[in-house]
Amino acid sequence: MSEEWEMPTDGVTAQALFEDGVGLSYDDYILLPGFIDFHATEVSLETQLTRRIRLKRPLVSAPMDTVTEAEMAIGLALQGGIGILHYNNTADEQAAMVRRVKRFENGFITDPVVLSPRHTVADVDRIKRTHGFSGIPITEDGSLQTRLVGMVTNRDIDFEKDRTRPLQQVMTTDLVTAPQGVTLSEANRILKESKKGKLPVIDAEGRLVALVSRNDLVKNKEFPEAAKDPRKQLLVGAAVSTREEERERIDKVVAAGADVLVIDAAQGYSKFELETLRYIKEHYPQVDVIAGNVVSLPQCDTLIRAGADALRIGMGPGSICITQNMMAVGRAQASAVFRCAAFARERGVPVVADGGIRGIGHIVKALSIGASAVMLGSLLAGTAESPGEYFYENGVRVKQYRGMASLEAMSAGGGKRYLVEGGDSVQVPQGVSGTVVDKGSLTDYVPYLTRGISQGFQDLGVRSIAALHEALYTGRLRFERRTKAAQDEGSVHSLVSYREPRWGIG
Ligand code: GDP
Ligand code: GDP
Ligand code: 5GP
Repeated sequence: MSEEWEMPTDGVTAQALFEDGVGLSYDDYILLPGFIDFHATEVSLETQLTRRIRLKRPLVSAPMDTVTEAEMAIGLALQGGIGILHYNNTADEQAAMVRRVKRFENGFITDPVVLSPRHTVADVDRIKRTHGFSGIPITEDGSLQTRLVGMVTNRDIDFEKDRTRPLQQVMTTDLVTAPQGVTLSEANRILKESKKGKLPVIDAEGRLVALVSRNDLVKNKEFPEAAKDPRKQLLVGAAVSTREEERERIDKVVAAGADVLVIDAAQGYSKFELETLRYIKEHYPQVDVIAGNVVSLPQCDTLIRAGADALRIGMGPGSICITQNMMAVGRAQASAVFRCAAFARERGVPVVADGGIRGIGHIVKALSIGASAVMLGSLLAGTAESPGEYFYENGVRVKQYRGMASLEAMSAGGGKRYLVEGGDSVQVPQGVSGTVVDKGSLTDYVPYLTRGISQGFQDLGVRSIAALHEALYTGRLRFERRTKAAQDEGSVHSLVSYREPRWGIG
């Protein structure tokens, strides 16, 4: 083999694609294929959400009142993504949602709810109603400072007719416990062997220091990709506004355990945003902040200098959004993502592509031009885990999905995102309210999305998001601009009728 063989190049680099100053959207370009030498199941979608937070899946749910409350945040985190709880509520309501997500799964439960032998069966019923669990350690005086004397679980009280009976009379006292300092793996082994539902961990004096629940082991096995903190609690984010009078919201959601804050402003290049960022960084340096929204380099530069741990990119591409029409400001989403991502990468800051994602292809495209994660509104609305009830519209089962700057959502508090003053009598909407089709549960839908993304990566010949970004910035990843005719050609055509697949075609 003496002859030098040079691989021809084709298509253009992303830098060349986006250089002429024309705003491009995801549909305006396509990626050229790469060489496949692996299976789609080998693709890793692990990513960096912020400077410090890693996720197994690059999926983030939008902080909207028809998308993310506790159920969405739990469902998505179990599958490796993360939910951002919306702020169209009181600070206490949002903090309660954060707590619900954090309590859902645990390694060691270090602050278990406990009762005393003098409490009654009705007290356990009350805890079951408010917290959802009924495995309660019983200590001498009902606090964590005194000795563990028994356990009450469902099985002790299921058939008890007299709900006023003191727990003293129904609790189990023959306990399997583990000593303080036990590792989680060891605690799990004891739990499995004892066949009990709960394992109390006690110190040398017999005081309760933690509880381990068998059901958490089951959850861990069922959802190995779950996004969890070191305590094995699910990760969750909370949206906060830039209003000074809402600093209390920041304090409350952080105290409740929020892992990441999203400063939720439609145009994040403002003194209000900077003041909010400063407040969070000063008081809660341990919490990562996703700042935004931004679409241009001066905006990115300012927020990164002010300490943003990630940027949220998008102004106007959202499915429910009318900002670009109404305000004449914004940027075509692909151009915004590419420009901002390349800039932020050099400064060690990941970006989240927010809005305008219509399906799997758009997710792959957003990641291919530098996004580390995508934020989804319409795609996750209409799932069983999104807020709201299903109803029928022209025979189709739907749920409501509305922009946070729709007139309806603004009157519920969404206007904060758009610097709308509370008492303002004139309101100009920047979003609409509509419906989206029933997508069923995240349990089926997220695996569908992630497998689709993995297959896209396979066609590109890349095994991971890191490899994709490497190919992007070295110019190995090749793109081509698409005419309108090319876009039509790439869509279904020439048929009298056809049936769309269950989750659409983007
Ligand atoms: P139980 O048997 O009725 O207590 O409920 P499960 O074992 O099905 O569920 C308990 C779930 O709630 C587990 O995922 C726990 O991690 C979680 N959890 C969070 N905080 C507490 C707590 O203080 N006590 C108990 N028992 N569970 C908690
Ligand atoms: P690492 O060692 O901190 O990386 O954590 P691993 O994920 O390897 O888990 C250590 C042990 O904790 C293993 O026995 C896991 O099965 C178990 N584990 C992981 N997540 C959970 C959880 O949410 N609850 C419980 N009870 N155990 C868990
Ligand atoms: P989607 O995924 O539905 O295309 O877009 C969701 C994104 O749209 C949200 O994450 C948020 O950035 C943006 N958004 C939400 N509500 C509104 C609104 O009322 N107006 C505008 N301009 N954008 C919105």
